[in-house]
Amino acid sequence: MTDTPTIDGAEVRAVAIDGPAGSGKSSVSKDVARRLGFGYLDTGAAYRALAWHVLNRGADTADADAVLAAVADFDFAISLDPDDYWVRVGDALVTEAIRDPRVSGAVSGVARVPAVRESVNALFRSLVAEADVPGVIVEGRDITTVVFPDAPVRILLTAAPEVRAARRSAEVTTQDAAAVAAALHQRDAADSKVVDFLTAAPGVTVVDSTELDFAQTVEAVLAVVGEGTGAR
Ligand code: C5P
Repeated sequence: MTDTPTIDGAEVRAVAIDGPAGSGKSSVSKDVARRLGFGYLDTGAAYRALAWHVLNRGADTADADAVLAAVADFDFAISLDPDDYWVRVGDALVTEAIRDPRVSGAVSGVARVPAVRESVNALFRSLVAEADVPGVIVEGRDITTVVFPDAPVRILLTAAPEVRAARRSAEVTTQDAAAVAAALHQRDAADSKVVDFLTAAPGVTVVDSTELDFAQTVEAVLAVVGEGTGAR
């Protein structure tokens, strides 16, 4: 556990972690949050939940107007507790459903609509401002650059593409390894047209997990957070 970090105010309560799919971002961020007594905000879950919602209405995520119409009645809720993670849309618990390959394949279409990004970014900032914890680990693709560019700690968590594909295929048991790798690279290619999450913006610290196991990656991130906030 930790001393309360030397950060206050809505903007600087966030620790920003960006990175591509399969970099270990979610599991590492969750564990870092747990170790520090912080909250954990999975921003990708909001885009996934919206893609799920669009598909659930029978609409096409490639149709920007249909996506915008779905935003109007998108009743989204997410837990910031790293020990009790859940995602809801209205009354539906979608924690598992949003990991479905069907949703992963559709999510980039939702994420490229600028009005969607503005609306979820406002939500992320208010969730962090209202969270009853000393800090929140916020992970995504544009957290270091757009959502919390003034966060005291900003990290880009990377790993070599083949390592990311191997990690993701170990997680996804419903598809073969080649299909998982192809889907991951396709999603990275689509997403990187919207935000550049493969190169670090000025002031962002790179943690490359290619040669690190999970525990070593957590330690590397904790060290960067400790330097930036005093939280250990
Ligand atoms: O992090 P995860 O892989 O669950 O993110 C799902 C999708 O949400 C990404 O492929 C991307 O399209 C979108 N996303 C985004 N900006 C973020 C987080 C996720 O565009 N900050």
